[in-house]
Amino acid sequence: MQPTATAWSGLDSVRAEIARACKDAGRDPAEVTLVAVSKTFGAEAIEPVIAAGQRVFGENRVQEAKAKWPALTAKHPGIELHLIGPLQSNKAKEAVALFAAIHSVDRPSLCEALAKEIARQARHPLLFVEINTGAEPQKAGVLPQDADAFLAACRDTYDLTVSGLMCIPPHDEAPGPHFALTAKIARRNGLKLLSMGMSADFAVAIAMGATHVRVGSAIFGGREKKA
Ligand SMILES: *Cc1c(COP(=O)(O)O)cnc(C)c1O
Repeated sequence: MQPTATAWSGLDSVRAEIARACKDAGRDPAEVTLVAVSKTFGAEAIEPVIAAGQRVFGENRVQEAKAKWPALTAKHPGIELHLIGPLQSNKAKEAVALFAAIHSVDRPSLCEALAKEIARQARHPLLFVEINTGAEPQKAGVLPQDADAFLAACRDTYDLTVSGLMCIPPHDEAPGPHFALTAKIARRNGLKLLSMGMSADFAVAIAMGATHVRVGSAIFGGREKKA
């Protein structure tokens, strides 16, 4: 299959910008994982990005990932899928089976469901707790003031190993303070990983310590429907 011009140029420029942001921040580019967010895109758009060497992909819906990825992962060894969208507790079983990382842990009922499936399947996806840094009512995530207690409960009540934090800053605000707050909460809780930064702001996120940037449209182009 011929790679599309969009995929090549998009991925190349995102990689270049990640390298530049790391250099500016005095960070090793190996510390930053690019999660290519392929939600809404089909195999024909994803294949060229795999062909260009990308192996880590993000999806925001369990059902979509389940429909789309098994055929691709069978063909291409070493693919790693990350769940970046909200997870219903009744899909924890499928999520633990399918994903190498879950970026959206945000409530006790989900912790309980994940803990059960992790034990049952003996699979250990990397877990990120989502922080609702803007305290936006329509958004998922733990409120910043509840984060320390929630992380303690993950550890002590549910026996879950959380590796990092994730945030999605409000659309209409400068992202820097939200990234800084997320980094601060991670630091005081001894968490090493930070999932932050999307197409519009991943360079800022890298400057503030992001270890995982979730980039969709800058790689794949615009999405037709809102996802
Ligand atoms: C869609 C999505 C992204 C990617 O957004 P772009 O602006 O297309 O880069 C990142 N994170 C989450 C949680 C998303 O839902």
